[in-house]
Amino acid sequence: MRAPVIGVLALQGDVREHLAALREQGAEAVPVRRPEELAGVDGVVLPGGESTTIVKLAARFGLLEPLRAAVRDGLPAYGSCAGMILLADRILDAPPDQETVGGLDVTVRRNAFGRQVDSFEADLAFEGLAGGAVHAVFIRAPWVEEAGEGVEVLGRVVGGTADGRIVAVRQGNVVATSFHPELTGDRRVHALFVEIVRRHLAEQSPSEENS
Ligand code: GLN
Repeated sequence: MRAPVIGVLALQGDVREHLAALREQGAEAVPVRRPEELAGVDGVVLPGGESTTIVKLAARFGLLEPLRAAVRDGLPAYGSCAGMILLADRILDAPPDQETVGGLDVTVRRNAFGRQVDSFEADLAFEGLAGGAVHAVFIRAPWVEEAGEGVEVLGRVVGGTADGRIVAVRQGNVVATSFHPELTGDRRVHALFVEIVRRHLAEQSPSEENS
């Protein structure tokens, strides 16, 4: 089967790091700025950055509705940090007019760890990933305040004042983390997402498997 083509929403944020991480996992990674580019991908990554800015730019570039429709129709999507905010159906501590792409039945709180705690790092257990704890880098990170029944919790903070807070989730083909695996050398989260995209691609085009 051909390599999966994975787009990285390239309006603002740490786009390059995601492109590199996806390529290391064997995907063909491409920046996405226009609806035509989105139409050609097998999966999409929404990077970390500033969610308020990214969503405004997405609307201006005519990408917000196509993104919503694509995720609704089952396009695999992965969001890190600001990307998690973008994939949430509901958000807290956001400007009242901040829109989202949605797709994850969760309520996400922006800048949830407090203004003083701009960034921190922590090791956490990540459901389904072999090889031990994931070293997670959080930068003005959100957390999942509430997750719907169909949402699988993959990771939580352990210890400290945020003990037990949800920081990694999956619902079907949609994955989100509060932290930034693109900024560490650990590629297991990207590998998980590329695998989800590969499987989805195989289901979409079963005949290709024999070619
Ligand atoms: N606080 C940012 C936001 O609300 C997210 C931070 C990040 O992506 N590193 O968009």
